[in-house]
Amino acid sequence: MAVSHKVDYSKTRQRMVDEQIASRGVTDIRVLNAMNKVPRHLFVEEALHGQAYNDYPLPIGEKQTISQPYMVALMTEALELKGDERVLEIGTGSGYQAAILAELAEWVYSIERIRSLANKARKILFELHCYNIEIRVSDGTHGWKENAPFQAITVTAGAPEIPQTLLDQLAMGGRLVVPVGNAFSQTLVRFIRTKGGFKRENMGGCHFVKLIGKYGWQEE
Ligand code: SAM
Repeated sequence: MAVSHKVDYSKTRQRMVDEQIASRGVTDIRVLNAMNKVPRHLFVEEALHGQAYNDYPLPIGEKQTISQPYMVALMTEALELKGDERVLEIGTGSGYQAAILAELAEWVYSIERIRSLANKARKILFELHCYNIEIRVSDGTHGWKENAPFQAITVTAGAPEIPQTLLDQLAMGGRLVVPVGNAFSQTLVRFIRTKGGFKRENMGGCHFVKLIGKYGWQEE
């Protein structure tokens, strides 16, 4: 199926950026422009297109979600991308955040543990001509050693503790953003790799589906 452009959502998307993202303090103009450009509705099933720009996550199948637009923007801004980075995303899901990252960095490596989601994401990203993204199906808690180090790493599922494997794959000065906590609520944490170790900053509360894998939660 070709990409459908039946409804023009550009005004709805601009409203999402103004009322949900800029108004809450996201100021990086490159992030705001990317959020304004990527057609979020195409990453959810057609019956949900009308809700794609609302202020909440949506189901994408396999009991997983596409994150709330503001959360995508907040996490992306915290990565401080300038355009020449190699970025690692753990949790491709719908592929939406990968598309945003691809607007802002040189290359995006994204890992998803559920094959059907990875396949759907690959298809829509190809149809949208996002060619600077590589998606792998595996347990992302191991990171992607062959392509490390990364200037930025984002984990879009909640971890019980900070995966050391991912910290190890950060470049000097690199940023890791990861939700850490229990199954019901987490704190969004940013780590910056410095010469002396890692600087840690708490960015506030959040709620994500579980990061399942060797260095995450056990499969149920
Ligand atoms: N970034 C996604 C998007 O833009 O649609 C949203 C991701 S969704 C909130 C979290 C995703 O993380 C799910 O698709 C889930 O299957 C995936 N996931 C959970 N544990 C994982 C792991 N160990 N490795 C890779 N993906 C994982």
